[in-house]
Amino acid sequence: MIDLRSDTVTRPSKEMLDTMFSARVGDDVFSDDPTVNALEEKAAAMFAKEAALFCPSGTMTNQIAINVHTRPGDEVICHKHAHVYYYEGGAMMRNSGVSVCLLDSPRGQITAAEVEAHINPDNIHRPVTSLVEAENTMNKGGGTIYKFEELELISGVCRKHGLKFHLDGARLFNALVETGEKPSKYAHLFDSVSICLSKGLGAPIGSLLIGDKPFIRRARRVRKAFGGAMRQAGYLAAAGIYGLDYNISRLKKDNDRARHLGSVLETMPFVESVIPVESNIVIFKLGKKESAETFIARLKEHDIHALYLDGQTIRFVTHLDFTDSMLEKVESVLQTIP
Ligand SMILES: *Cc1c(COP(=O)(O)O)cnc(C)c1O
Repeated sequence: MIDLRSDTVTRPSKEMLDTMFSARVGDDVFSDDPTVNALEEKAAAMFAKEAALFCPSGTMTNQIAINVHTRPGDEVICHKHAHVYYYEGGAMMRNSGVSVCLLDSPRGQITAAEVEAHINPDNIHRPVTSLVEAENTMNKGGGTIYKFEELELISGVCRKHGLKFHLDGARLFNALVETGEKPSKYAHLFDSVSICLSKGLGAPIGSLLIGDKPFIRRARRVRKAFGGAMRQAGYLAAAGIYGLDYNISRLKKDNDRARHLGSVLETMPFVESVIPVESNIVIFKLGKKESAETFIARLKEHDIHALYLDGQTIRFVTHLDFTDSMLEKVESVLQTIP
């Protein structure tokens, strides 16, 4: 099976499983799990922040951050295709009672100018703007990578207006292997950063929320209330440590394979357009002659699985378990489509 639906489909490797099985564990609700503690300390150090919190999912890390940074009735500025808004089941309205101001800039990336233009005035009719959120890489924008300078400008606008700034960095490492920037360079722009261990890094479960100590103390409380405080979670944290140690630099390969897929798709007669590939996500639109349903079914006949997004739009995501020989196979199958 060739699974291009998402980079979440990877299974832990033998080496990762061995590390998990031999993990030292304890009850993490009592902060007694040495492996969870080690993972949190490692992540905090990588990002040059004071603390981190291990959670079951990236949705939870994002939503905890939103809950801590806002009060009910506040407004969050984010892109209309931001994962926190578009793909998290309405969680920020449901769990934190916040309103959103949705920006609509190209390829999912918000800008400092737009953020500044959408901060509500101090007027009792308007919700209080308290948080800005950016996503890097930007999933629904086509895996786009922010320019560091733009994030710096947005961070400046947030500081100037007393707003918090959260980064959904589910696939941040896919961006950093391209730009060569260090996580520590990133983190100081944000009040909180969320990263996923269960995507490109190959862990079966887990995400991290990273920030200063008072923030993480409050986040720990919210994680408990959201039902995300786990017990002998060190078995999972061990996979995260393994992913951070061994699976970051190889993300470049995923990005390169995705870029190759993008360039192949661009030459295909049945493809109308491909969003320029910047990381491991390839989003493309089929022309009128090939329905998305037929296309997905054709690939399935060859045991290749793609994700239908909407309209005529399809997504491929490359990952740890997608090899060069699979890439060749996909390329040759694509070539058979008229
Ligand atoms: C996958 C993803 C998340 C988190 O998803 P979970 O499935 O809840 O772990 C958050 N943000 C982005 C951009 C993602 O792609």
